[in-house]
Amino acid sequence: MLLYNTLTRKKETFKPLKAKRVGLYTCGPTVYNYAHIGNLRTYIFEDILERTLIFSGYAVNRVMNITDVGHLTSDADTGEDKLEKEAKEEKKSVWDIARFYTQAFFHDLELLNIRIPKHIGAATDFVPQQLDLIQKLFKNGYAYETSNAVYFDTGKFKDYTKLSRQNIKDLSVGVRDEVIEDPEKRNPADFALWFKLVGKFKNHIMRWKSPWGEGFPGWHIECSAISTSFLGQPFDIHTGGIDHIPVHHTNEIAQSEGAYHKPLAIYWMHGEFLVLKDSRMGKSLGNFITLKTLMDNGFHPMHYRYFVLMAHYRSPLTFTWEALDGARIGYEKLKNNIQTLFSEPADFPKTEFSEKPVLEFSKKFKEALFDDLNTASALGALQLFLKLCNTLLETKDINASFLLKAQKAVREADRVLGLNLFEETEEIPSHIGHMVKEREIYRGNKQFTQADALRKKLDALGYVVEDTPKGARVRKK
Ligand SMILES: [Zn+2]
Repeated sequence: MLLYNTLTRKKETFKPLKAKRVGLYTCGPTVYNYAHIGNLRTYIFEDILERTLIFSGYAVNRVMNITDVGHLTSDADTGEDKLEKEAKEEKKSVWDIARFYTQAFFHDLELLNIRIPKHIGAATDFVPQQLDLIQKLFKNGYAYETSNAVYFDTGKFKDYTKLSRQNIKDLSVGVRDEVIEDPEKRNPADFALWFKLVGKFKNHIMRWKSPWGEGFPGWHIECSAISTSFLGQPFDIHTGGIDHIPVHHTNEIAQSEGAYHKPLAIYWMHGEFLVLKDSRMGKSLGNFITLKTLMDNGFHPMHYRYFVLMAHYRSPLTFTWEALDGARIGYEKLKNNIQTLFSEPADFPKTEFSEKPVLEFSKKFKEALFDDLNTASALGALQLFLKLCNTLLETKDINASFLLKAQKAVREADRVLGLNLFEETEEIPSHIGHMVKEREIYRGNKQFTQADALRKKLDALGYVVEDTPKGARVRKK
């Protein structure tokens, strides 16, 4: 299997550290808000990676962190703690914010058929491990204390920018603001391992005791501590979005390698951005689309998963509603095709028939995924194979055993892609559909009392109606 390693900038043949077992770490969400569909694109890529590894016979031990403290509004340690800021805005406790958005995140994963990692670690549950790591860094001469915080001394770490391949001088310019924030920092690129409760953090709610006084951990140290707690060091694959390369992953490497003098991970894999015309998606940029936004507009989560899989994970993908609609049509067509094809009664004559096309399809499908997870090409192979099956079926040039083998191969492909292509689409009974249409007419005529009565009746029958910009949508409760 070939995987692209950001560290070497090459596609490499994947060789795990232990035969047949893979340790895989994924940077998880900062739970101060809903995940946007750009974040979710990265989790779909990581899911495909895990499924492909399983497909190829590996047992995967996957770990993901949940950032619930220490991630400041700028990745480079400036600004406020994202969770505490949101808690103030929503007038909730910071723990409630973390709990709420963690649940929302896992709900999104479930809707998108993303496998839940075997181990999940919240930053706040791993503070002792983070403190241990910081102490090791002091011992090895990489950490120092100022009146504001404990920092990692990037000047002492050889090859600090080996992952990002940035010029350290460019990096210094990019973080110049910080120098003003803490004049005691030795190098502009130095990053916080531990924040003290001084200045703007005087009233920080989440706080723990430490050898450097009460405070809270910096954002990067949790990933170094959580990953190696479960996987040891080094482990096989570390993943995340490309935005993690210059700061977060660079810092994880510095911390873990500074503490243990051995690599953190062997392969570093990064998913590209989902872009909106010419900008990336982000809350601060005012273009925040969540999975719920898509569903409110009448799309099924699988339509989005299919949309993502039509592109390679290392190519930027432009999101437009038209493109998503194209994916919806493509997905439904594919699913229909599969369900019709394999629900045909198998009453064919028992003639001999070559099963070569099935084997060829399975081979092409596997080759596509094993070539650095080329999902687009794997989907192409699937479509070609279904086309062939359809042609054979039309000419009755097929037998039952072939269809059965074909079905088995397609089911296997679906398991790797996670598209639920064999799952029945939820049918809405026609009398329910009529009631929804009737309610729409009432609403159009501004007869809201009648419309509301129908909504209540539907509710009693177990159906929820949601009014979206594209009209009413009904679903089972
Ligand atoms: Zn991380």
